[in-house]
This record gives sequence, structure tokens and C-alpha cells, in this order.
Amino acid sequence: MGIEEKLFDDFKKTLENDDKKFDIDKIERAYLRAKECHEGQKRNSGEPYICHPIEVAKLVYEFGLDADSIAAAFLHDTIEDTELTYDVIKKEFGEDCANLVDGVTKLGQIPYTSKEEEQVEYLRKMFLAMAKDIRVILIKLADRLHNVRTLAARPREKQLKTALETLEIYAPLAHRLGMQKVKQEMEDISVTYLDPDGCKMIENKLAEFEVNGQVFIENTKKNICEKLDAYNIPYTLTYRIKHTFSIYRKLFTQNKTFEELYDIYAFRLIVNTVNDCYYLLGVIHDLYNPIPGRFKDYISTPKPNMYQSLHTTVIGKEGIPFEVQIRTWDMHNTAEYGIAAHWKYKTGVQGGKATLDDKLKWIRTLLESQEDTSDTEDLIKALKIDLFDDEVFVFTPKGDVVNLPAGSTVIDFAYAIHSAVGNKMIGAKVNGKIVGLDYKPQNGEIIEVLTTSSATHGPSRDWLKIVKTSEAKNKIRHWIKNERRDENIANGTDDLEKALRRNGIRLNKETRDDILKTVAQQLHFNAVEDMLAAIGYGGLQVSKVERRIRDYCDQLEKENRPMKITPVSHPRASAGGVAVEGIDNCLIKFARCCNPLPGDYICGFITKGYGVSIHKTDCVNARRGMEKEPDRWLKASWETSESNSFTTTLLIHVNDAIGVMANLTRIFADMKVNIRSLVSREEKDGVSTVTISIEVKSLNHLNYIASKIRKDPDVLDVQRANQ
Ligand code: MN
Repeated sequence: MGIEEKLFDDFKKTLENDDKKFDIDKIERAYLRAKECHEGQKRNSGEPYICHPIEVAKLVYEFGLDADSIAAAFLHDTIEDTELTYDVIKKEFGEDCANLVDGVTKLGQIPYTSKEEEQVEYLRKMFLAMAKDIRVILIKLADRLHNVRTLAARPREKQLKTALETLEIYAPLAHRLGMQKVKQEMEDISVTYLDPDGCKMIENKLAEFEVNGQVFIENTKKNICEKLDAYNIPYTLTYRIKHTFSIYRKLFTQNKTFEELYDIYAFRLIVNTVNDCYYLLGVIHDLYNPIPGRFKDYISTPKPNMYQSLHTTVIGKEGIPFEVQIRTWDMHNTAEYGIAAHWKYKTGVQGGKATLDDKLKWIRTLLESQEDTSDTEDLIKALKIDLFDDEVFVFTPKGDVVNLPAGSTVIDFAYAIHSAVGNKMIGAKVNGKIVGLDYKPQNGEIIEVLTTSSATHGPSRDWLKIVKTSEAKNKIRHWIKNERRDENIANGTDDLEKALRRNGIRLNKETRDDILKTVAQQLHFNAVEDMLAAIGYGGLQVSKVERRIRDYCDQLEKENRPMKITPVSHPRASAGGVAVEGIDNCLIKFARCCNPLPGDYICGFITKGYGVSIHKTDCVNARRGMEKEPDRWLKASWETSESNSFTTTLLIHVNDAIGVMANLTRIFADMKVNIRSLVSREEKDGVSTVTISIEVKSLNHLNYIASKIRKDPDVLDVQRANQ
């Protein structure tokens, strides 16, 4: 019996013993067909070629996929390397299987390049294939995993190319799909080919730790078990061997020393329920001293790839730090197999065709346990971004790496550290320089979050518009929801009023309560106040409520019951001390493009449904607009005696000198000018530009402020932005 027959027979037995009813006949036919096609071909190792597809099929089975995928795994190299065609496969094994083989073949044909810009395109194509049928990617990952496992037999040049490609494309892909086991094995093998010396050093060191730590590991295990056995909670405790590449990354890209790694020794506790996780965490913290700042709760806040676990680092009795991960079996399976755990462990669900929709549905169900957001659409949108965007790696001042979706702001960073850090955040420094809260960190930057101990400080609603990650959004909403109920209700009421007014709806006093109550019930709120609060903290879109109100009113009208709305005949009085010619009362807003101030020459533009928008007469948009639609423009002027304030933005060019920022902020503080936001960017030749938004009362006031700033010797120039 050839080596391949033995391999296949063993595999077949596994399939026969599996509870899932596989179409073994089809799988065997695929094996025989592939064997026939690859007859005479050999791997570099000298083995018959068919051994490779058998191993790939075994992996595909391990990933929990279905019979069609397993059959496709047997055939995955036939279109490319043999005479077999798509049509023949379709005839013999069905369209589904043929499409999978075709998909894997095409994926292999996308030329890999180490050029960054082309890699993006490469990944895009991968994601497209994934969106069509995720099984294609999983088969490809199995193919690649077996290829790196057998890399030793390949010529050196091929080893380097495959290892690099695996590290740059396939391992991140496995990571994105949450398949930690596959990702880690790919990384560990690849890096040994790319840097044999570095890896040898790590392996020797690890072996040393392992030998020296033998007694410590055994004792710690014993201590933990003795303690845990006293509670009637089933658990499994394992000692986890740290994987090489994660150490490699810490040593060589974060310049840490072995002594600085706290998680060389690591234990893993697996339990049945989430409650048990937190309970045993308490027990562990009782037994050993936790190192402050090293506790991470990925259960309440899963990683973007769905990873969940509690991580804590404690100091052992011998003074040696070690990490403990605590998770449920469900979380464990998801951590190991990621997206594949979905098929593998949901009994009764055969690995059917998973469209992107199915995949998102899976994510959706996972998320529905998070109660803080009533807007699922919003969440899914956010999640798609988390799943498919590239990531940036940034550092805490202590050198811990934090992994954020690209485009995240420093606020996202703060919340990724801990919600308490985000909630107390007042500013941030990037590589030692103060930046604005909307600053988007780049790879490798060191970020320090500035916090306050003031008990009254908390995140602002405006942050919701700046942050990128759903994690930060949820935490901000959570805080606002819990800490600011009265404010939320007031804001929600205000937002709803505005939305109704914009749409020309006014609810009569007598019927208002009745209508709001009905709509609140429709949206599953217990009380109107809860609904208003939800609008206030951003958990419910105001447009949704407005639409319901309109629908309900329309319905009442149709049923010929007394009409409960009256259109607004006269919009409300003007705001901001502006008089617009030809209109008595109207909703006024100030154009964002030019931010007019009292004293500026202004004009008004009649918007579609949002009242009149005030521009400066010399604003580019205004001038262009007046040429295009002269009818919609009105003369406007300032009314005097206003105590309102206006936001305006200044660009201040300064010398890069110590204390410049402090001086600037002091000048503003002395003049009692409120700063809304402040961003500093380094230009070249020792000059920085500070972009600062402040509240001013009028053009005169602004000119006065500018003249004061110009007196500072380090200030080179002051300009008003947006003109
Ligand atoms: Mn292959």
C-alpha cells in the first residue's frame, strides 16, 4: 500500500466516525480523481504529489467545512497543474465544488508583490473572493498552511518568497478571520526561514526559561488547582507555550529585552460560563498580586476579530510574573478557529455556503448580546470597518503595543487602553507633542493620554462623531447613558424638536404626549423619557423617531381622526443675532465653510429644509452659489447687542521652542477665551502650525485676540482659517 493510500484510509475512518453525515462517496471520488490526475508528479520532498491535497483536505475538515469543500481541497491543484477542467469537475462533482476549485485556483493566480500599493489591490481581490464564498479563502489557507509546513524541502529562494508572502498576506488574513491557531503556526514557521539566527536565539532562551521554570510552573499549577478545587466550578488549566513570533515581534520591533516580557510563562483557564470567568479571575487575584495596568477584559469588549478572553498578569510567589488567560470553551473555540468555529461547533449546521451576509449575520448574533446600542445597522456598519480596514500599531509610553483600525483617533486609543482612561481623557501627546483629540495616530507612534482626576469630567457627545472604533463608541455611549440621564433627555428632546421642525412638523401640546408614547412603544421603550434619553446619548437615530411620528400622524389622518400635526407656518425666531432681509422669522445656521463673525459682511442662503445658512459675502462658496442660483440668496446683517459667541479657527505659525504651546494656551486663558480644539503639526525648518478653534464674540474681538497673540516672540504669523 502506498503512503497516500494509508493517509487517505485514516482520513476516511475519521470521516466515518464523525457525527456529521459527510458524503464520503463524493469525497472518495474526488480523492481518486485527483490521484489519477497528479499521477507521476512528485513534491520536492520526493513524496507523491497527491499527499499534499490529502493533507489540505484534512485541514479543511479540521476547519469544520463541508463535503464539497473537502472534495474541492482534493482537487484544488488540478485545474492549474493537470488536464482536468472546470467543466469536468462540475459534471462529476457539482457546480458548488467546481466553483470552489475555480476560486482557489484564481486566488493563486493573483500575482503577489512586496510593493505596498499593489498589496492593497491583492488584499482587495482576496476580500472579494471571500465575500463571494468564504470557503475559498479557508481552503486557500489550508493549502498555504501545508505548504509552509513542508517548506524545508523547497529551494532557499522559494522558502524566502513563500515565508514572506505568508507573513505579509496569509497570516494577517487568518488573524482577521480570528483563526489564531493557523495564524500562529504560519508566523512561527515563516519567521524561522526569514531570520534563522534570531529564532534560534529565542528558542534557546525559551528552552532555558522552560528548564529553569520547571519547578515554578509545577508549583504554580498546583497552587492554582488547590485554590480552585475549593469552589465547585469545573475548569481546565493548561500551561501555554508562548509562540515564537509574538516574542520575536516584541524583541525586534519593540526593542524589548527578554526580562521585560511578562508573559513568557502563561496559563490558561477554560470554564463553562462567562460568570465563572469573572469569578475565577477574582480568585486568581486573591491568590496572586495582579500587576496594575495589565488586566484586559476582551469579554466585555471583544477584539475586532471576535477574540474574547480575560487577560491578567500576576506576580508569583517566587517573584516571577506570569500571565493568566481565562475564557469559556465557546470563546476558546472561537479564538482557535475564528470564523470556522461557527461551522465546526454549531452542531447540526453543516458548513453550507457562507455569503458575506451569512457571515455578518453570525457577527450580528454575537453582537446582539451587547445591549448598549439599539441601532444594529449602525453597529454592523462599524463592524465592517473594523473587519476590513487595515490596522495601525501604536505604543503606550511603557512600550505596550496597541492595535487599532486605521483611521482611529487618539480617543479610540484611550478607550482601547481602558474605558476609565477614555472617560477621564482631556488631551493626548504623540511622540511627546500635544495633539488635538481628532488626531489620527500613525504606525509606530508613542501615545500618551492626558487625563484629569476631576470627578465632573467625562466624554463629550461630540466625540462620537470623531471616533472610529465601535468599541470607543459603545464605551462613550455607555458612559453618557449612565452618567448623564437628565442631560440625555434634554438633548434628546432638543434633537427631536429640531428634527421635527426641519421637517415642518409641530405636535400640538394636547396630543404630543400621546403620539410620543405610541412611538416609544413601537420602538420597544418602556417610557418616553427612555426614548428621548436614547436619542440623547446617540443610541437611537433621531430620524428613525421622526419617521415614526410622521407615519403615525399620516395614519391618523387617513383614519380620519382629528389631525394631530400642523405644519409650521412661521419658522421660529432668528438665532445668533442675524436679520435676514425679506424673512421675519427663520431658522438660522452659520456656514461651516467660512464661520462668519459679527462685523463680517454676510448674506443668507435658503437651504432645502434647513432654514437659512449664513455665509460671509466674500466666501468662495457664497460667490459661486450666487452666480448659479441668485434667487436663493438674501441680504443679511448683524443685529447688535448680542451676547452670543461664535466658533472660529485660527492658524498660528510658531517657532518650535520649548514652552510655546504653554505660552499660547496661557494667553488665551488670560483673555478668558474658550478653546474648543487645538492641533499642532510640525512643518519643516523648525516651524509648527497650530490650528486652534476658539469662541469669540465678534470680528473686533477676534482682531483683538490676534493682536495679543502676535506679540508673543515665538509667533511668526496668525491667520484666520477657511478664507
Ligand atoms: Mn496546493
